[in-house]
Amino acid sequence: MNKILIRGLEVSACHGVKDFEKVHPQPFIFDADLYFDFSAAAESDNLNDTVNYSAACKKIVAAATSQSFNLIEKLAYVCAYSVMESLPVSKISLTVYKPQAPMKVNFKTVGVSVEVERTEAYLSLGSSIGDRKDYLDRAVKALVSHQHISVKKVSDYIETEPYGGAAKNKFLNCAVGIETYLTAEELLCEIHKIEDACGRTREKRWGDRTLDIDIIFFGKKVICTDRLIVPHPEYHKRDFVLVPLKQIAPDFVCPVLKKAVKYIQSSGSDVKI
Ligand code: ATP
Ligand code: CA
Ligand code: CA
Repeated sequence: MNKILIRGLEVSACHGVKDFEKVHPQPFIFDADLYFDFSAAAESDNLNDTVNYSAACKKIVAAATSQSFNLIEKLAYVCAYSVMESLPVSKISLTVYKPQAPMKVNFKTVGVSVEVERTEAYLSLGSSIGDRKDYLDRAVKALVSHQHISVKKVSDYIETEPYGGAAKNKFLNCAVGIETYLTAEELLCEIHKIEDACGRTREKRWGDRTLDIDIIFFGKKVICTDRLIVPHPEYHKRDFVLVPLKQIAPDFVCPVLKKAVKYIQSSGSDVKI
């Protein structure tokens, strides 16, 4: 992927844990790599086809001077998010140096680096207890209001038969397409919080539940850890996942099956819609 480079952007600002640092500005130096496919701009030679590095610098300066933080860790993330939110870059690597950090040692500089990436992800939501529509609505609302999640598409809500033998009630299911700056692990953590806020309990695998949210795809990433398997290992067997997913992401190509969603046929025999 192409990238646009910013090196040595100097900003005078008030960040640090010491009281005097909060009132006396000192220099902070920024380096940033903005990942962006600028092949169209290379062809057209038109500024409108690329990411304007002046606009990116202004965003960093505004973010660094509008608030005061204790830590450069926080400062780095705030600046990185500010660029990501306003410009169409797919990823930013940002380093902030604090060459005059108050330390009684000789040093050239200290700094931190962060990486923030924009990922297109797809979630499958289901509810089979209580006011099922309200639980799905609450989940979508929680995703919409999350600072680092942007909801792009919500499918229709469909009623489906219980799956796997343990659940007895009919489900209401939907799929949600999001863009997020979170990592997959962080996203899992956030969806668990939303499930918990909706009274989710975990007695029986595949049992009835107020709200279940599964990560079906996380960009093109293939993840297999103790806590997280993505793409979801069962999604291709489940019509209650595939039917809503086909509505909102027919052309998304599964990184494991290497097929567009619209061509994936449920291989589960016991799923009835
Ligand atoms: P299934 O995953 O077969 O649909 P379930 O949704 O009923 O079953 P849960 O009890 O909700 O299962 O989740 C159990 C654990 O599965 C979670 O705590 C989580 O760590 C793990 N998990 C693994 N991969 C995923 C994924 N892609 N999305 C959500 N959770 C996942
Ligand atoms: Ca599930
Ligand atoms: Ca789940």
